[in-house]
Parts: sequence; structure tokens; C-alpha cells
Amino acid sequence: MNLVYHRSGDTMKVIDLTPRGYCHGVLSALAMVKKVIRTESYPRPIYILGQIVHNEKITKAFQAHGVISLDQPNKTRMEMLDEIDSGTVIFTAHGISDQAIQKAKEKGLTTLNATCRDVTKVHTAIKHKLAEGYHVIYIGHRNHPEPEAILSISPLIHFVEDEKDALLLPASLIEEKIFVTNQTTLSLYDIESVLKIIETKYPNYLFDNEICNATTVRQDAVIHQEKVDLMLVVGDKKSSNSNKLAFVGKKHQNIDSKLISGVEDIDPKWLMDIESVSVTSGASTPTKVTEEVILFLHQFNKNDPSTWDHDSKLDILDIL
Ligand code: SF4
Repeated sequence: MNLVYHRSGDTMKVIDLTPRGYCHGVLSALAMVKKVIRTESYPRPIYILGQIVHNEKITKAFQAHGVISLDQPNKTRMEMLDEIDSGTVIFTAHGISDQAIQKAKEKGLTTLNATCRDVTKVHTAIKHKLAEGYHVIYIGHRNHPEPEAILSISPLIHFVEDEKDALLLPASLIEEKIFVTNQTTLSLYDIESVLKIIETKYPNYLFDNEICNATTVRQDAVIHQEKVDLMLVVGDKKSSNSNKLAFVGKKHQNIDSKLISGVEDIDPKWLMDIESVSVTSGASTPTKVTEEVILFLHQFNKNDPSTWDHDSKLDILDIL
């Protein structure tokens, strides 16, 4: 049920969409890092191979506890491992290749794997289909760690991001068994246009929709909300599922949808002439960050500049 707040003194409605925020995969990954931090027997330094989940505030909070996140977009997980010679390495919720796990073990590192079980399910499905002789077409986003791990499984996986890539798929595959699946945090809009092209090329393809339940229910809440003047999606610009919430808001309901990392990104001008605003957040967005946004909107009064201060008051150590 969505919570609706009315500000006193005027009519702007603030709608808190539910569900929003942390999913089970993110909660498990955060719990794993916290456990390593408080358990002295895990060798130091503690590394995360990438961002544990795509949220800069969470990365900074762990950094304040001495955890090193090797977040280097131009390097693969395998390449980043070259920089670690000792300690504990945690693989992120987005998944990891078997080769990277093997390399970390050969280097004598203590390893922990925070891969979300929904991502593991896709790895398993692809491995099964490859063993059955299928060619796999995987729909995802370039330069995202989830596809990076998936593509390491086999050269028989064809990566597709958009219609343009789908049009380039080889005609020779028409004779092959084709299995199509996708990154867990996409929206059905991303997939439908690509599937239409795949269908014309390989009419007998088999499709397994792997958008995870957490992504689906958060997008459904956006799709089924009442019409509002503005939707704020609280999430990191690197977070695929947060970006998709804004995309679905724009695409499905034609709502002005803005992705903000926190209250500090709100421009008070956005709120001056509107009557309603909804708020949701990505699966990797700390609850306290979203709550601060809702609190700000609730107390905002366009006639009272003292309510326009949108600096975050959160202590970075307190957001986890
Ligand atoms: S968004 Fe989905 S796949 Fe990603 S961590 Fe959460 S539950 Fe897992």
C-alpha cells in the first residue's frame, strides 16, 4: 500500500511508493561485508572487487570502515585481481566468473562471494542450456559487472544490448537451438523490442525472462501509481534497477521522472509549481537516504525559503 502525505498549508501530495528500496540480494551482500568487518580472523586488508552494490554512499560508508572497493570501470574483475596480493576479497552481488574465483584462490586470498541468488540462477540456467547444445543470446547492459561474469561462461553466448545489436546477430544461427535470457535488473520494455527482432531471425527461440522479482515489483509499483506531476527515484546513477525505475515512469506513465542520489540533488525549483510527487528507490539505496528525501518533501513549503535547505544531514557511518 502506498503511503500518502499532505503538507499542511498547501495541497502538494507526497506519495511513498511501496515496495521500494533494499532487496534480499543487497541485504545479504551488506550483511556479509559487515560480518567481515567485525570478524578479526578474516585477513586484512578487506577488498571488494567492484562496488558491493551500486551505491556510492554505501561504498563510502564501508571505506570509512577500512574496506577498499576496487571500482575501476575500465578493468575486468580478472584485471582488478592483479592489484591484490593479500587479505580478503569479497565478490559483489552482481556475480563473478569461475575464472576470477579460481585466480583469487590461486593467489592465496580469502574469498567470499556475495552474488545474489537470482543472479546465480541465471548462471545456472545458461550453463544447463549450453550443455544441451543451445546457443545463448543474453540481453544486458554493456560495462555492467553482471554481463561481464555471464559472458565469461562461454564464447557461445551472444551479447545484445539493444535493437542494433540484435540486428547484427548472425543469420547462420538459424540452424541452431537458441536460448534467450537477460540481466536481472532490466525492464520488459528493454527486452520486448529486442525480442521482436530475435523472433524474426530465429522463430523457434526459447526465452527465459530473468528480471528478478525485486526489480519487477518495484517497477510494478511505478506502473500502477496514480498520475503525479513528478516522480523522484532515489538511487545511484550506476544502479541499473534505479535507472529502470525512472525509465519506466517516463515510458509508461509519461511522468517527469528524476533519478537523484539523495536529498542534496533536489532542486527546490522542481517543486514550486506541482501538486503531487511520488518517491521510490532502487534496490541498492539505503533506507535512510530515501526517508530523508520524503521528510524534506513533506516539510517543503514553496512560500517559506527556510524549508528549501536540501543539504543531507546524514552521517555516512550511519546509513548502512
Ligand atoms: S536487484 Fe534482484 S538480482 Fe539484483 S541483488 Fe536485488 S534481488 Fe538480486
